[in-house]
Amino acid sequence: MTSLRTRERLVQRLVEQGIRDQRVLEVMRTTPRHLFLDEAMAHRAYEDTALPIGYQQTLSQPYIVARMTELLLAAGPRQQVLEIGTGSGYQTAVLAQLVDQVYSVERIKPLLDKARARMRQLKLRNTQLRHSDGALGWADKGPFDGILSAAAPEQIPADLLEQLAPGGRLVIPVGGESQQLQVVTRDVDGFSTEIIEAVRFVPLRSGTVR
Ligand code: SAH
Repeated sequence: MTSLRTRERLVQRLVEQGIRDQRVLEVMRTTPRHLFLDEAMAHRAYEDTALPIGYQQTLSQPYIVARMTELLLAAGPRQQVLEIGTGSGYQTAVLAQLVDQVYSVERIKPLLDKARARMRQLKLRNTQLRHSDGALGWADKGPFDGILSAAAPEQIPADLLEQLAPGGRLVIPVGGESQQLQVVTRDVDGFSTEIIEAVRFVPLRSGTVR
């Protein structure tokens, strides 16, 4: 079966799971998820499941990529988006097709290098990737009108809240053993938090790995 056919099936499943944003569905229909996996895993690319990418990390489940992207875009288009935890770069590639500019940080250097090569291969030129600790955000490039984290802190790092522009949205899993997906919105008089659903992400770890 062609990967387009299997991707169409995947999108059908996302619709059944409640994903409604047509732009998100269209981008996931066309983005080759198999290119974000090592060869041995590529045949499983269109299963709706998280998959190993090495270094004890995983490419997020398609449903959660779709859901987080939908939540990020729910209050209107986003220009400057920061992603924490580039991993394979799949979420980065999805975002790059929906917002003006994506900045993405990853603490594990070999993962970042592979993701960077994939951005080049797919000619996604509105992405900038950096090897650093995402708990610190990316102050030079901020403020951001969207921040999305693929790793879960016990508590939301203050730097991420500080780098959120007025009207900006932060989509992030929070917790340890039990985690919740949260959307934090910055408005004129502070922050408001919406709890979305229970999730399971890798922990946000401090420091970087060469
Ligand atoms: N969006 C990625 C998900 C990768 S899993 C994908 O679809 O492939 C989460 C990633 O967050 C891992 O690669 C992990 O190394 C990274 N991570 C964890 N803590 C981090 C931190 N403090 N700064 C940057 N990246 C971090």
